[in-house]
Amino acid sequence: MKNIKKLGPRKRIALVAHDNKKADLMAWVEHNKVVLSKHELIATGTTGKIIEEKIDRPVKKLMSGPMGGDQQIGAMIAAGEIDMMFFFWDPMEAQPHDSDVKALLRLCVLWNIPMACDRATADFVITSPFMHGDYDATIPDYSDYLNRKIVK
Ligand code: PGA
Repeated sequence: MKNIKKLGPRKRIALVAHDNKKADLMAWVEHNKVVLSKHELIATGTTGKIIEEKIDRPVKKLMSGPMGGDQQIGAMIAAGEIDMMFFFWDPMEAQPHDSDVKALLRLCVLWNIPMACDRATADFVITSPFMHGDYDATIPDYSDYLNRKIVK
C-alpha cells in the first residue's frame, strides 16, 4: 500500500545557505516574502537569523549548520516534520561539515522531499500551484529493506 503524506496549503519549509550563498538566498527570500509568509519557516542558525532581519517574521532557528544544524534538519526530515527544502549550497568551496551537507541532500531524496539548491529551481518550486494548495506526497516504502534477511 502506498503511504501518502497529505500536505495542506501551509508547508513546513527548511531554508539553509552557505556563507557565499547567503546573499543569493536573502535576495530570493525578499522577492518571495509574501508567499513565504503563508508557510512555516525553519532554518539553520545564521541563515534563520538573517531571514528574520530581512523579512521581519519569526523563523524557527536550529543550531548553526556546521555546529549540527544540518543534522537537525535531517532529523526533522526523517521524522516527517519538513515538507520542502531550499538549500543554497556553495559548489566552489569545501565546507567543514561537508559530510553533513551530503547527508542532508541524501535524506531529501530518501524521503522524497522537494529540494531546490539554486535560484532557478527555487523560482520554479515556489511558483508551483502546489505551494498554495493541497499535495499528496508519496512516502517511499522501505519495508523490503527493513524486513531484509540478516545473517545472525
Ligand atoms: P548557518 O548554516 O545558517 O548557521 O550559517 C548553514 C550551513 O552551513 O549549513
